[in-house]
Amino acid sequence: MLGGCGEAAIAGKLGGADWQRGHLLRDRRFPAPQGPIEEIDVLIAGGGAAGLAAGWRLAEAGFDRFALFEMEDLTGGNARSGRNAVSAYPLGAHYLPVPNREATALRHMLRQFGMMTGEQEGVPVYDPYQLCADLEERLLWRGRWQEGLYPTSGVTAADRDQRAAFDRRMDAYRKAVGADGRPAFAIPMAYSSIDPIFRALDGVSFAKWLDDEGFTSPVLRAYLRYCCRDDYGSEAEHVSAWAGIHYFAGRRGWATQGDGDRELTWPEGNGRLVSLMAQRIRPHLRPAHSVFHVERDGDGALVDLFDHTARRSRRLRAKAVIMAMPHFVAARVAPQFAAEGAMSYAPWVVANVTVGRHPEGKGVSLAWDNVSTASEALGYVVATHQSEANDGGPTVLTWYLPLSKESPAEARKILMTRPLREWQTMVREDLLAMNPDLDGVIERIDVWRWGHAMIRPTPGFLSDPARLGAVAAQPPVLFAHSDMSGLSLFEEAHHRGVCAAEAALSELDHPFESLA
Ligand SMILES: Cc1cc2nc3c(=O)[nH]c(=O)nc-3n(C[C@H](O)[C@H](O)[C@H](O)COP(=O)(O)OP(=O)(O)OC[C@H]3O[C@@H](n4cnc5c(N)ncnc54)[C@H](O)[C@@H]3O)c2cc1C
Repeated sequence: MLGGCGEAAIAGKLGGADWQRGHLLRDRRFPAPQGPIEEIDVLIAGGGAAGLAAGWRLAEAGFDRFALFEMEDLTGGNARSGRNAVSAYPLGAHYLPVPNREATALRHMLRQFGMMTGEQEGVPVYDPYQLCADLEERLLWRGRWQEGLYPTSGVTAADRDQRAAFDRRMDAYRKAVGADGRPAFAIPMAYSSIDPIFRALDGVSFAKWLDDEGFTSPVLRAYLRYCCRDDYGSEAEHVSAWAGIHYFAGRRGWATQGDGDRELTWPEGNGRLVSLMAQRIRPHLRPAHSVFHVERDGDGALVDLFDHTARRSRRLRAKAVIMAMPHFVAARVAPQFAAEGAMSYAPWVVANVTVGRHPEGKGVSLAWDNVSTASEALGYVVATHQSEANDGGPTVLTWYLPLSKESPAEARKILMTRPLREWQTMVREDLLAMNPDLDGVIERIDVWRWGHAMIRPTPGFLSDPARLGAVAAQPPVLFAHSDMSGLSLFEEAHHRGVCAAEAALSELDHPFESLA
């Protein structure tokens, strides 16, 4: 097929979270519920990592009187994945760092899924085939690929000194304990100290904190910009200093053989984790249902939902409802229970690029994660890195771009209006700048848009009343979403899901031992 300039058009599709269904919710365009009111004990509204973790926790406790309603045709939220003839690949989340000691419920699940294989003297052992294989990361810096994500050559002594000083500060924060005896920074973040010494860091942006502390080296700042965009989809100017430091000081992966710093990953990224959770609770899943109204009804709640297949609305009465949807949606659906707050969300674009052979390049060999200092994008991960198909032949490269320079509203306009062909050109040019050797072997580029990809941990997010209200909610309406942590991480979503499920089990007097 030929495109407008006589150039061959690249095959591919434009996809994304279902905006039409999302906008039906925004505009409240649903018919009134019909038929008798159905009764249920626990209703989970939303099937991302948090909603699935809530369902998984209920099932673990032997509780089966629940249903999970998900708006989209598939569960998984922004940890969903895709697949083509070459490989499975992520559409969003792509890895899980080895969890911290405090992530007890998550470790329980990873053990059940065979990812954690046992313990040595009480310390977790992970399956080496599910930990990211060598080479984990490489950086294109001044025309050569080098190992790691921080330039090691051609930097000034001053740059090097600042990097060392920054690492020392982060190490001190990693070891710091508050007056309440808790670690200053934990994952799940709910276990972090509330000592005002650390909480004060939430009063300023990470960029201001870096300036004030004299961390001004351009090389260091470029690296820190990459980190903020990677985890939060945002510029350091829009990230709370507490969150910026949390990125470095929160992780204390607990594992044998020095595996604590490593990551678990699969061809489909965290799609593996959400699909295993979904399999565990398959009979309880009700995809293609939008929950559009929740209100109190005595000790329980009435829930209105729209069935997108049958094209009709129904009403259910639940003893407990777990709102596992983004908070800005929950505030519309259950205004009696959720305040809107000041939460804002970073838009992202993810492209899956199918290539006829593996990329190469000067310097170290291909890594799982490949980043260029010269690009606005965050580089690409290689879907087949963990599989037997990692033989130099066809593969899928997952390319990431947070639209962090524009305001979220402006970026969403770009997402809605830019045609596939323009995205493909941008992705192709960026990839060829990193890997000219890919010229002629790009077979297709599929582009996926996330309008509300990640909550932005802006300064003050720790004391946002909307967030705190959701965290403190009691039955009948509970909340479970990574938004409640203000940090869009799998561990956070999982923790919120587990806590909400345990609160529902307590309310219903169902016996269980807490995993959280
Ligand atoms: C591009 C990208 C890359 C990422 N990379 C990583 C990574 O590598 N590692 C990591 O840990 N994290 C990563 N994250 C973040 C991680 O994916 C999320 O933090 C986590 O998956 C969020 O899960 P959640 O359940 O809290 O929310 P969501 O994924 O937002 O799930 C909410 C669900 O609720 C559904 N829903 C919404 N409204 C309704 C309604 N009214 N009725 C019914 N259902 C509804 C939605 O369709 C969705 O399925 C990434 C995110 C993105 C976007």
